[in-house]
Amino acid sequence: MTDITEIKKSTKENEEFGLKFKGIFDSTFQFIGFLSPDGTLLEANQTAMNFAGLEASDLIGKKFWDCYWWTISKETQETLKLNIERAAKGEFVQYEVEVLGKNSTTTILFNLKPLFNSTGEVIAIIPEGRPIQEIVDARNALLHKNEELERFASVASHDLKEPLRMISSFMTLFQKNYGDLLDEKAKKYIHFSVDAASRMTILINDLLNYAKVGSEEAPIELIKTNEMLEKIVPLFHASLEEQNGKIIIEELPDILAKTTPIKMLFQNLIGNALKYQKPDSSPLIKISGKENSESWEFCVQDNGIGIAPQYFEEIFQMFKRLHTKEEYAGTGMGLATCNKIVKQHGGEIWVESEEGKGSHFYFTIKKQNMN
Ligand code: ADP
Repeated sequence: MTDITEIKKSTKENEEFGLKFKGIFDSTFQFIGFLSPDGTLLEANQTAMNFAGLEASDLIGKKFWDCYWWTISKETQETLKLNIERAAKGEFVQYEVEVLGKNSTTTILFNLKPLFNSTGEVIAIIPEGRPIQEIVDARNALLHKNEELERFASVASHDLKEPLRMISSFMTLFQKNYGDLLDEKAKKYIHFSVDAASRMTILINDLLNYAKVGSEEAPIELIKTNEMLEKIVPLFHASLEEQNGKIIIEELPDILAKTTPIKMLFQNLIGNALKYQKPDSSPLIKISGKENSESWEFCVQDNGIGIAPQYFEEIFQMFKRLHTKEEYAGTGMGLATCNKIVKQHGGEIWVESEEGKGSHFYFTIKKQNMN
């Protein structure tokens, strides 16, 4: 005989569980639903329905892409349909999309999560959307501000160069034409002025280079990295001769990226590896690289002065220098530029180093499609 109290108890527990589940389902800030693998909407939570001012009867049983939220454009509907097909094959799909609400549109971060049974079959798809309009607006404002700042830096640097050239050339002319009339002190002052003007020119050029990163319309192309480095190394010929230095280049992976910035990146890192050396030492620089599943990774290794761990992150900021210009010349813009280039390529840059022993500068370039 079946114990009726047990059945009642279990039914009650099921009901309570159902109520709790429904409570959570309807009260989250997210839009959540259930789809059958063919895209039919089986359920939508209250948040999603309230957002569009809809009732369950307007929605349930319809193909998801025909539901009001998605009718903002044909393209939005088509993309959703294709993505549901992907999710029905077991793929987790995520993208940002603008959808229709009752009185407005909003951008959501949207997921399609396949739900599998014990044999690995997709039995349902869970669509979930998180409103992120505020984040998108903030991001767009930031991008806009960044563009403005870069334009400003670029224009200001261009305009600053001209008066600087004037100062420099008139000071030089002054020295040449009136040098005989000047005492040593006056000559020293002229020398300081010319020197300051030339340092400022270098700084402006570095700032311009920094501002330009990412603004160029250059295409992403196949870079034969070893061939590129064979062209870069001769640029350091004089310095290598003078310091009795050596650069070893291992077999490097070819990459898809923008040629000019990648060249600049290697040039900066090699330049630093040669510059930040102990006096009278012979620089030994090794460049290696490998292919990861999502990126290409490179390392420029040197046997120079090294860096203390507390500066491992700071050195990638603009104008951050660990030495005076008397110790090592520079503007503190090189690594900031490298950082910007790498970020533009969806990668990371970091350093591992030991003071007095040398540094390993690593960076990655994210793999991407040619378009
Ligand atoms: P700059 O060389 O013009 O000073 P960077 O931005 O290229 O500017 O470098 C920032 C600082 O990081 C440098 O001033 C130096 O102290 C440190 N640094 C960079 N590369 C190396 C290196 N290979 N070895 C040791 N220190 C380095």
